[in-house]
Amino acid sequence: MCTGRWRSSCGRPCCCSCRTRSRSAWRSRAATGPGDIHRPCRHGVTLRYLLRTSRRQLGGGAPVLPSLRRPRTIGFALSAIALALVFPVASAPAHASGQPRTGFEESGGARWTTQPEEAEFLGKVAERSDRMGVEEIGSTRQDRPLRLVTIGERRANVMLLTCSQHGDEPAGREACLAAVRDLALAKDQRTRRFLEHTQVLVIPTANPDGRAADTRENADGVDVNRDHVALATNEGRAMAGVIRDHKPDVVYDLHEFGAEPPYYVKDVLSLWPRNLNATDAVHDEAKTLSETYIRPAVERAGFSSGVYGIWTDPVTGEPVKQVAGDGQERILRNTAGVKHAAGLLLETRQTPLTDAEKEDPAAFNRHRVSAQRAALSGAFAYVREHRQALEAATAASRERGLADRGPVYVGGADNEPPTEAQTIADPPCGYALNTAQVTEVGDELALHGVQISREATGSALVPLRQEQRSLIPLLLDERATYHIAKGRPVESC
Ligand SMILES: [Zn+2]
Repeated sequence: MCTGRWRSSCGRPCCCSCRTRSRSAWRSRAATGPGDIHRPCRHGVTLRYLLRTSRRQLGGGAPVLPSLRRPRTIGFALSAIALALVFPVASAPAHASGQPRTGFEESGGARWTTQPEEAEFLGKVAERSDRMGVEEIGSTRQDRPLRLVTIGERRANVMLLTCSQHGDEPAGREACLAAVRDLALAKDQRTRRFLEHTQVLVIPTANPDGRAADTRENADGVDVNRDHVALATNEGRAMAGVIRDHKPDVVYDLHEFGAEPPYYVKDVLSLWPRNLNATDAVHDEAKTLSETYIRPAVERAGFSSGVYGIWTDPVTGEPVKQVAGDGQERILRNTAGVKHAAGLLLETRQTPLTDAEKEDPAAFNRHRVSAQRAALSGAFAYVREHRQALEAATAASRERGLADRGPVYVGGADNEPPTEAQTIADPPCGYALNTAQVTEVGDELALHGVQISREATGSALVPLRQEQRSLIPLLLDERATYHIAKGRPVESC
């Protein structure tokens, strides 16, 4: 039944959300979740907040499949078949089962899904799903919405997908939209069991203005994936808020790269956090995710794989040189590691190289999206099989900050030993901020989940003994490359 509370909250006689969710469940969610739970109405075209959790038992029915059109070439066809075998959500093309389809799918890969199409698609999927919510977590400079899709409820693990932070790298976004549908509407036992333990969060378009303009940067010309420390962009701030509020165990960041033949030509590249402030356990889980799950999954699906940022010899396969993928903390893969999550960067090649790829752009687009989806299937398999180790690693990482022991690194990487100057061997017990500094960076510290102790004068102490201990010197120590304020080290708190 729709209660008066929910009726008044949406201003309509009744809304489906309150029809399908118990009030205690709403209260529970409202008490723990950050979403604007008091707007559970989905009337109208614009999605404000939507979360339906029917207790209706799902029956059998047609499993859901990546809805790719029949590939034209043998290579693409094999990839699609292999993808069906590895994707955790089973098969049956969306167009055959009447499932909502993206603009990309409708066009056979000839064009990318527009943002109005995205809104309509998410609305249609949510309409049919008993486990999906959509909320706005911000808006861009050009007033486009930043959306967060929530699939399932938090029980154990949380997996966050950030899709196409770089607006001119669209394949990941298409994979995210398809994954939202396939997870939200799946009826097969395997996917339902997966979602019983794992809540999947998706930011389907992490840089809406950049996507609209087909640019890497946002409308202000800022690279959002270099903004995860400064939080100068609406996009970066929205993602930081999601990480703070949902504490994901995995942050999976979808990108694309340009090839550099003959050294940098793989279909899929991935990388874990190289920043040395990610704990060993979190780092190792992320590396396992990359090397033991994602790369084998994409190779089984018929794609080639490698490590992001490393050129390899075309004959021997040996590393030649590193061109990207360092440890800087302002990149989401690394920020996520410092913030206790298994961060993962996933990149698909967007440069056509073979004659077949050059001759049929739509087929090559499908190839890129299929590669993204194959990688994602490996990530889902990892979470399914590693959930306990993953949760232990992320929990231990959070707790380590409370012990307030050990060095903090302002440089170096897991493949580049830090210099003495890059090692704060014995960090202070806190950083003092004056009133002006608190005014200037207080919001950013809050978005990072950093606790501060305010004085009556307006100044503040930022103690290191807290979950975000390793992050704090990166924000407030003048030795850190991307510090947002020069805090005064305090030796006795
Ligand atoms: Zn990128």
